[in-house]
Amino acid sequence: MKTFITLLLFSLFTPLTYGICVHEKKLSGFELLDSLTHESASQFHVEVDGVFYPMNKIPKLNPAKEYSVQWGHSKAISGYDDKYVKYYRYSRVQEFIEIHRQALTQKGYTISIIGKSVEGRNLYSIYPNTIDTSKKMVLMYGRHHGDEGTANWIIEGFVEKLLSNNDFFDRFQLILYPMVNPDGAEAQKRYNSRGRDLNRVWYSSPSRSKDEVAIIQTHLKSIYLDKGYLPIIALDMHGSFTQDFIYRVDRSFRDLPFFNTQQNFIDELGSRDRWQAGTYDLSNGDPQMARIYLVRDFGINALTHETPRDIAKNGERSLETLKSQGRDVYESILTLY
Ligand SMILES: [Zn+2]
Repeated sequence: MKTFITLLLFSLFTPLTYGICVHEKKLSGFELLDSLTHESASQFHVEVDGVFYPMNKIPKLNPAKEYSVQWGHSKAISGYDDKYVKYYRYSRVQEFIEIHRQALTQKGYTISIIGKSVEGRNLYSIYPNTIDTSKKMVLMYGRHHGDEGTANWIIEGFVEKLLSNNDFFDRFQLILYPMVNPDGAEAQKRYNSRGRDLNRVWYSSPSRSKDEVAIIQTHLKSIYLDKGYLPIIALDMHGSFTQDFIYRVDRSFRDLPFFNTQQNFIDELGSRDRWQAGTYDLSNGDPQMARIYLVRDFGINALTHETPRDIAKNGERSLETLKSQGRDVYESILTLY
């Protein structure tokens, strides 16, 4: 028990340069078994065969094995919308699609329900009817983690901006998966309804990937990646505890030119977005993260965009400033590419 609690306390009080998306640590089955009776352990989730279980519901543990432990999830907050910038629900992504359906259709885009979540909600994709290889492809997805609602307001700002003129469509094509985890979004939980962290289940082969991600990845591969039509940038929109930053790989993960490509985008965005301000975190992540899959298997400039997931009302930030961060992403892409 002591080892476990000491490790957790160490992590909790180690000064973090930047906010993070979740607290995460690898612990042995022995350390976990040792800590099961401790009451403070109840807030921790342990991964067994790809599913995160609360400590009191973990299946049989192997003392010799290493397990991934996560903690620091959002708690369902009553009266959320009175205290924070409006929570972005599944119903809003449907509204958002209806608001823009006509404009997107006129620009030559398909709005497709490519499958259903575990609980039967729609998984949407917005993508061009025909591939134009003379244009550069931008990939964006959001809401792998259900409780990170602010990410979707940024996506809305991005889409509104690109629909406001023809600049984007003259030179780029977009593929957007606006809500990867609608069940988690409805439940205001990080995981999907089976307890999976959907940003830990992107395998090189979609047949190994799980649930909603298997559907999205199969779609993405079949219409783009397998044809060698690769995005010039991929942005995965998330919500952190408190700070704005970008997750990117370190220099050793690929090579210096790739590192510089990522740095250029971070600098450009930082010059426009005063919250983001060029802040980044070097992380080679988990091998089954969406971002790592795209960097490792395809060499795509994939970045994770983090903004605080709960933004207090009456502060200097609002739904409108979140949308402005989406416009900053747009301007950065148009400037750099
Ligand atoms: Zn996240």
